[in-house]
Amino acid sequence: MIPVQGYEGRTVAVLGLGRSGRATALALAAGGARPVVWDDGQAGRDAADAQGFDLRDLTRPGAFDDVDLLVTSPGIPHLYPVPHPVIAAAWAAGVPVDNDIGLFFRSFATGEWDGFDSMPRVVAITGSNGKSTTSALTHHILTECGRPAQLAGNIGRGVLDLNPARDGEVVVLELSSYQTDLARALTPDVGVFTNLSPDHLDRHGGPGGYFAAKRRLFAEGGPDRAIIGVDEAEGQYLANQLAEGQADDRVIRVSVNRKLAGEGWAVFARKGFLTEWRKGRQVAAIDLRGVAGLPGSHNHQNACAAYAVARTLGLSPKAIEAALHSYPGLPHRSQRIAEAGGVAYVNDSKATNVDAAAKALAAFPRIRWICGGLEKDGGLGELTGAMGSVAKAYVIGREAEGFARQVQAQLMGVDAEVCTTMARAVERAMAEAEPGDTVLLAPAAASFDQYDNFEKRGEDFVAEVMGRLNRG
Ligand code: ADP
Repeated sequence: MIPVQGYEGRTVAVLGLGRSGRATALALAAGGARPVVWDDGQAGRDAADAQGFDLRDLTRPGAFDDVDLLVTSPGIPHLYPVPHPVIAAAWAAGVPVDNDIGLFFRSFATGEWDGFDSMPRVVAITGSNGKSTTSALTHHILTECGRPAQLAGNIGRGVLDLNPARDGEVVVLELSSYQTDLARALTPDVGVFTNLSPDHLDRHGGPGGYFAAKRRLFAEGGPDRAIIGVDEAEGQYLANQLAEGQADDRVIRVSVNRKLAGEGWAVFARKGFLTEWRKGRQVAAIDLRGVAGLPGSHNHQNACAAYAVARTLGLSPKAIEAALHSYPGLPHRSQRIAEAGGVAYVNDSKATNVDAAAKALAAFPRIRWICGGLEKDGGLGELTGAMGSVAKAYVIGREAEGFARQVQAQLMGVDAEVCTTMARAVERAMAEAEPGDTVLLAPAAASFDQYDNFEKRGEDFVAEVMGRLNRG
C-alpha cells in the first residue's frame, strides 16, 4: 500500500466504495488522515462498514463543513452528463475534488528514495484503444529484462494498492480518460498516448472534452519523455505542441501507417517490421511477423509504443525483441487459444465496438467470424473496409437475425448464418473451417444481452472450442 501524504490529521471524504474506493480509504488512514466514506448503494456501504470505516451521509446539508478534500471513483460523473450531487455539493462548499491517481502522484516518492542507487520511475499510458495491451506488454518487457516493475491503474490493481517502490523500480500505470480528467497531480516520467477514436463522449461533453482529458497527462511541465501515436490529427497536434522542433527527442513519435524518418526520435511499423529511427538514421529493426502474441497492425502500434518506453528506460533493442516474442497476450484481446488441423482459434471478446473488431478482422488472412450481441450506436457501417478477409460470419446474440442482415448489407457476397448461441456458432465455424482459416470471436457488440460481461463471453468461447477439440 502507498500511504497518502499531505493530509495528516485532516478529514477527507471518499465517495464510491468499490475496490479502489476502499483501498483509497485505507491508504488515507495509513497516512494519518481521517477518511469519512459514502456510497449511493447499500452494498458498498455495508462492505465499508464491515471493514470498520467511518460512514458519513455526504448528501446531507453541512456534510462538508469539516472536510478538506473529496476523493471520488472513476465511474462517478463529475461534470457530464450531469455532476453527481455529492460532487456538486463539494464544489459548492469550496472543497477540492481529486481521485486515487492524484493522491498516488503526491504520495509515491518518499524520503527512503534518498538511499536508492537509481530513482524509481512512473510510466503512464492512455489512449482510446490498446491501453491494456501496451501496459501489460511494457510490464512484461521490463520484467523479462530483469528490471523490477509493477503494473496498476485501470488494469488489475488500484494505484494506492501498489507496494512502495524498490530501488530502480518502474511502475506502469494504465489510465483511462475518467482517471486523467480529474487527477490533481499527474506527473509521470514517461507518458504514452496510443491513439484517439470517439468513446465515452457523454462523460466528456463531446470529442473536445474527451481529448482534453487525455492530453492532461502531457500538460506543461509534464513527462520527461512523451511517446505519441501520430496517426490521427490529435496525436500530431499533441506531438508538435510538446516538441521544440522536429529534432527534440523528448517526444518519440509512433506510427503504423507511414515511415517517420526525420531528425527526431521515432518508432514505426510497416509491413510487419518495426523500425527505430533517431537523428536521421535507423537505429534498430525488428521483424514482428513471427510475434504470435501481437497479431495485426493495431498490435504493432502497441508494440512500437512499448518498445519506445523500454528504450527510454535504457533497454537494448535485442533484449526487447526477445521479450516481444515471449509476450503471452492478455485474455480476450487477440488471444490465440488453440491451433488444430491448420485452423487457429482467437478470442478477441474485448472487441466490443466496431473499430476494435475492424482492427481484429484486418489481422488474419481468412476468417470464420463469430460476431453479434448488443449493438452499439452507429451501426456496422465502419466495417466495410475490413471485410475482405471474412470467409463467413456466424452470428450470436438475442438479435442475431437483425445483426446478420446488417453484416450481409456491409459485406456483399459474404454469408452470415444466424446461430444465436455461442455453442452453435463454434460448432458451425469449426465444421466449415479449412486449413489456414482463423476462427475469430470479435463481436463488434457488447455482451450484456447474453452475458454478465465480455470476459464471461470470451470464457464461453474458449470452453466451447476446447471442449470440442478435446472430444476430437
Ligand atoms: P484498452 O485497454 O484501451 O481498451 P485493449 O488493449 O484492452 O485496449 O484492447 C481493446 C480492444 O481494442 C481489443 O479488442 C483489441 O483487439 C483492440 N485494440 C488493441 N490495440 C489497439 C490499437 N492500438 N488500436 C486499435 N484497436 C486496438
